[in-house]
Amino acid sequence: MIPGSFAYHRPNSIKEAVALLTDLGEDARPLAGGHSLIPMMKLRLASPEHLVDLGGIKDIKGIRADGSDIVIGAMTTQQELIASELLASQVPILRETSLVIADPQVRYMGTLGGNVANGDPGNDMPAVMMCLGATYQLVGKSGERRVAARNFYEGAYATALGAGEIVTAIRIPAPGAGHGYAYEKLKRKIGDYATAAAAVVLTMKGGKVAACSIGLTNVANTPLWAEEAAKILTGSTLDAATVKKAAAAAEKITSPASDSRGPAHYRTKMAGVMLTRALARAKARAS
Ligand SMILES: Cc1cc2nc3c(=O)[nH]c(=O)nc-3n(C[C@H](O)[C@H](O)[C@H](O)COP(=O)(O)OP(=O)(O)OC[C@H]3O[C@@H](n4cnc5c(N)ncnc54)[C@H](O)[C@@H]3O)c2cc1C
Repeated sequence: MIPGSFAYHRPNSIKEAVALLTDLGEDARPLAGGHSLIPMMKLRLASPEHLVDLGGIKDIKGIRADGSDIVIGAMTTQQELIASELLASQVPILRETSLVIADPQVRYMGTLGGNVANGDPGNDMPAVMMCLGATYQLVGKSGERRVAARNFYEGAYATALGAGEIVTAIRIPAPGAGHGYAYEKLKRKIGDYATAAAAVVLTMKGGKVAACSIGLTNVANTPLWAEEAAKILTGSTLDAATVKKAAAAAEKITSPASDSRGPAHYRTKMAGVMLTRALARAKARAS
């Protein structure tokens, strides 16, 4: 329960943080809210010799509109996502998702940047970001680049982040007025990671689905974007037969592990059930 010893660094700028991470190399890790990294260090599953705390960098906090995009600084906490009026009106699925992450104590410390950069398939935000078509702004020693959430996740704890690179912001195209949304998460108890979860964002026109996007959490070693399932639903009235077909298509791309949350086939089925529930709620909310 006691982590190994480490040196603590608290840079004041992105440039300083990147320089430290680059110079210190593989022995250094960025520290955000610490609610994934510190437990890993206590279990000795991670033993960085240097922690570079991003908490002193003002430029990577806050939520703002930039044209039709919403830009969220990486060090914005999950509680700040819940409290944001801008997000409540523009991207309400973020509030709904934040509210089912852990418990208030974790949400007051845990950041959006840490949640999406962590690479744990159990984290809830990555699938939501894939569903929303978000882009991550990364800064490293060779400057800034943007990577789509849909291309960011490579395996469990393996992401497109390069050596010394940090996520500075998450850029989300606002889904537009009247969109329907839902994040449905099956968990064993309050504060648990998902057995399976589904994010849906859709728009309806004349009683039919005009556009639809689906993300799935914790049913593979990466978050999943269920493109085929969304295609099946587009143009439909979300009738029971089409929803069943889409749920089957979503289940097909899952490959969960059998673990304490249930056997693999159960978790796969629950992905379909979560998607079915999320579609019903998203449809009811669409106007
Ligand atoms: C009891 C408990 C229950 C939890 N339940 C859930 C849950 O249900 N759903 C869920 O999604 N999460 C859950 N979490 C995790 C929580 O949401 C974490 O806060 C989150 O995963 C990581 O955010 P953080 O700011 O704490 O990051 P940290 O723990 O500080 O960092 C996590 C990882 O990301 C890296 N990192 C952090 N920020 C950046 C950055 N800006 N750029 C590059 N790399 C970075 C770190 O080096 C580290 O490898 C739970 C945690 C606890 C303790």
